[in-house]
Amino acid sequence: MAWSINSWQNFTTKHMPKYHEDITDIKTQLAKKDSIVDSKSIDELLLLLSKVNDSNYFIMQMGECAELFANATKEDIFSRVNFIEEVCRYFPESLNIIKIGRIAGQYSKPRSEDFEIINDEKTLVYKGDMFHDYMNREIKASRMLLSADVSKRTYDIMQKFNQEIFTSHEALNLHYEEGFTRLINSKYYNTSAHMLWLGEKTRFLNSSHVEYLRGISNPVGIKISHNISSADLIKIIRLLNPENIPGKIVLINRMGVKNTHLYLENLLQEVKNTNLNVIWMCDPLHGNTYKDSNNYKVRNLTDIIKEITDFAIILYKHKVKFGGIHLENSPKDIYECVDGSMRNIGEKYETLCDPRLNKEQSFTIAKLLAKLIQN
Ligand code: PEP
Ligand code: MN
Repeated sequence: MAWSINSWQNFTTKHMPKYHEDITDIKTQLAKKDSIVDSKSIDELLLLLSKVNDSNYFIMQMGECAELFANATKEDIFSRVNFIEEVCRYFPESLNIIKIGRIAGQYSKPRSEDFEIINDEKTLVYKGDMFHDYMNREIKASRMLLSADVSKRTYDIMQKFNQEIFTSHEALNLHYEEGFTRLINSKYYNTSAHMLWLGEKTRFLNSSHVEYLRGISNPVGIKISHNISSADLIKIIRLLNPENIPGKIVLINRMGVKNTHLYLENLLQEVKNTNLNVIWMCDPLHGNTYKDSNNYKVRNLTDIIKEITDFAIILYKHKVKFGGIHLENSPKDIYECVDGSMRNIGEKYETLCDPRLNKEQSFTIAKLLAKLIQN
């Protein structure tokens, strides 16, 4: 079937809350918004990514699990941009780091559960500022317009720092992504971010999210766990990149430390055998989430380090390039991932969604990576 900006509506849509209002007018307004990023810079990222597998390039993709509208201040954006720079300084200057933020649009979240109990009341889980406010969970379409404005403002502020940091977010709310899909020089681009990714929960065959993403020219990330079969993964890669354009597909492994050493090798070999152009990245956070004895959602730095190391060893064994890392982290004074420091989870636990690495923990990971990719 032919692709169009709304052909995704004929497929199976998961993890997108339904709007209980007519959104036609809001979608018209979205489609009229100025692009947030331009197609030239999207092509520029694609070109850089096309070099990752055979030269001295490494991708550092990082940022908030969920950005908040309230944090789109100049100070906060400066601090996040500066933090990306700081983390990247742990690498030798001879290495070209492609910096991609989870920034300027990371406002929608897929969640495992639809509801949670707050003060004995069944409440919608928080799905991100694009859908609702954390304190008032009513889904409102007008928040798509706010997302657009806040993302634009964020990107415009980022530009002032003169650093080459590309933007990315999960393509979750397809009404929003559709609004930013523009025909430029006879190709469709999603002009809300340089790179979009397909989440673990929406990357199945016949998914609306796969359908949408197959039509755009941006680089696309695919989150993968041990739950995907190599056959399905290969089908999805072919759908998203029928012309096998180098740099277009970034596979983001997030199997967790328990599964990476069991399942990654087979998947890697099967994909390698197809000669499809893909970049292999490691997200050592999303497969390592658990609830501690006080019910805090946490991740353990030891697991994160072990997953990165296992990932590196498997890729090395198969002569596949370790293309980059995908992290959830924050420059704030937080303690949400457990490390050996005996601090109490709870006193500096602020996340509204997933536990993030703090500064020190992020630097530890960067140092580890600098060592691993040199060897
Ligand atoms: C995320 O990156 O925030 C996320 C939800 O990841 P995943 O789709 O891998 O679970
Ligand atoms: Mn997350």
